Amino acid sequence: MRLFTSNSASGHVLRRARIAFTAVLIVLSAVSVFAGPVPIPVPTKQAVEYHTVSNIVWGVNQILALLLPMVFLISGLGTRISFKTLRYGKYLTFALIAATLFVLNALIRLPLERIRTNKLSQTRSVAAEPLLQWIPGQVLESLPSVVLATVAAVLVFWLINRSPKRWWLWTAIGFSALSLVVLVGEPLFTGHKPIGRTPIESRVVEFAGRVGIPKDSIALETCEPVDSCVDAHVVGLGPTRLILLNEGLLRSRPESWTLQTFAHESKHFVMDDNLTGWVVLTFIFLVFFLAADLVCRVALRRFSVRLGFDSIAQAAAMPLLVLVLSIVYLIALPPINLFRQHVEFEADRYGLELTGNGEVLGEMVSSWTTTSTFRVPEPSPFFMLFRSSHPSDASRIAFANEFRPKRAAE
Ligand SMILES: [Zn+2]
Repeated sequence: MRLFTSNSASGHVLRRARIAFTAVLIVLSAVSVFAGPVPIPVPTKQAVEYHTVSNIVWGVNQILALLLPMVFLISGLGTRISFKTLRYGKYLTFALIAATLFVLNALIRLPLERIRTNKLSQTRSVAAEPLLQWIPGQVLESLPSVVLATVAAVLVFWLINRSPKRWWLWTAIGFSALSLVVLVGEPLFTGHKPIGRTPIESRVVEFAGRVGIPKDSIALETCEPVDSCVDAHVVGLGPTRLILLNEGLLRSRPESWTLQTFAHESKHFVMDDNLTGWVVLTFIFLVFFLAADLVCRVALRRFSVRLGFDSIAQAAAMPLLVLVLSIVYLIALPPINLFRQHVEFEADRYGLELTGNGEVLGEMVSSWTTTSTFRVPEPSPFFMLFRSSHPSDASRIAFANEFRPKRAAE
């Protein structure tokens, strides 16, 4: 999902002013004397409003994504397209139905997405992009995903036809292999440069040496604007894994924040969380496609006459497959997100065990709300279950406040 970006001159100036303001706040908070626990920051009224709007838009768009294939199935649209084009081959027919469904899916999201981006512009006090510029931009942006989804759907359809009983297994293996290639090759596709020798960079390298992370495994990521990338992340998997630090933030933030961030990423690197993630993802793919196969079989046993097809190996069954996969995806999201939040929580714990400085983590996480116009420290349970990969800022601050290093506790 795209965040709003303004290409107007005024938007650019405002963005620069906001970054400068953010830097001032960061410095002020870093030099403050820590007296007791870090309080949970209070979000602005606009941030709370944006959070609500963003959740409603996300939720309604998910419902629309379910309703669309239902409309195809109930109206028999897929079957009608299939009758007219089947003489050109079932794969072409399937691709046509898939492309139609994915294009419509992208289009029906636009009205609510416009409401969300307008709300975001309000919170940032920047002018919303004119509608006539915004729509072509959105269409162009969704084009690659529509093409990719269509190609992927045709490949799955080919597997279904080649192996009607085991397609789910081959599809899971295929997606797993593809994600492995993407994860292993990620450092090649992410622009970065070697870490240098400035005082903070030397401190990071020295800190890394203490936990056995070689200098070659740390690099700087250059982002423009600086807040268009995350603070730091680990890319790659196994021998290719690499810790990337946002160069702009490295230069503008207090040293203690950079070291705390690096300590968090150290856990992802040392434990090779991307490898763990890939193993879990492979398991999810297996369950996901097996569940889809079973549900489709049950649905076809009951409704094949009404639907006009009796197998998912038929082109007209494409909307049914999409509907079932979308439902399984929504059911799978909460446990997946809870697992990801657990991994991130453990990275916070690992980082604090290394630095022993809860105040630094608390102040840093607190600053994400105090320097943002749309961030809320305690998102709704809906957001945490369906949309968040990290623990809430409030819980991270509370954990940092309560943290006592194991060595000190013993
Ligand atoms: Zn992390």
